[in-house]
Amino acid sequence: MKLIKDNLTEIRERITATAQKCGRDPQTITLLAVSKTKPVSALEEAINAGQLCFGENYVQEGVEKIEYFAENTDLEWHFIGPLQSNKSRPVAEHFDWCHTVDRLKIAQRLSDQRPADKAPLNVLIQINISDENSKSGITLAELPALAEQVSALPNICLRGLMAIPAPESDPARQCAVFRQMETAFHELQAQYPQIDTLSMGMTDDMDAAITCGSTMVRIGTAIFGARNYSVS
Ligand SMILES: *Cc1c(COP(=O)(O)O)cnc(C)c1O
Repeated sequence: MKLIKDNLTEIRERITATAQKCGRDPQTITLLAVSKTKPVSALEEAINAGQLCFGENYVQEGVEKIEYFAENTDLEWHFIGPLQSNKSRPVAEHFDWCHTVDRLKIAQRLSDQRPADKAPLNVLIQINISDENSKSGITLAELPALAEQVSALPNICLRGLMAIPAPESDPARQCAVFRQMETAFHELQAQYPQIDTLSMGMTDDMDAAITCGSTMVRIGTAIFGARNYSVS
């Protein structure tokens, strides 16, 4: 198996090359290492290779890793999984970001539960851009109203949008979906000055996402290898 360090180097080089190809500054794209189901030893390898931002999908697993690495204050933890309201407290208390806000009730709870001694929790509104099978995310038509409500809450900071499109292997079709996100993102930015994050792009659609303006790619498989859910 290839080393995590080498995978990270390859991904960073690919981000740079893709950004340059479409005239973007590679520095404007953050690489989020998606470490769900992976042991702390794998995260340690990534950290030793300079990776600081990690994405976790499961609340309990994520909190355990955050506590394990508590002494390293350079790390940034992103919650990227579906969030039920009864699990919002540990996310508000431990994570730095939540990418999956898709209703006011969750946003309110995150704001209420954010500890006073921490900076506001950074949140993204999840858009269901193309996946009819997914129950997560709102439609673009619902975005203006939710963005207005979320941005008014005191202890969270609305930073932008996130999407997980339906799997699609054709880059042109991947792009067509991502362009809709890019347009919505720019409209939101025009209204709210703090909006700076468009979270889209995974191992199989990263290049199209970067071409279409992603500022944060969420990469798991290409860094850590395939996930084995049966032993996790
Ligand atoms: C698992 C996951 C990823 C990473 O997917 P890969 O295809 O392994 O890169 C990114 N985003 C979300 C929301 C995920 O759940």
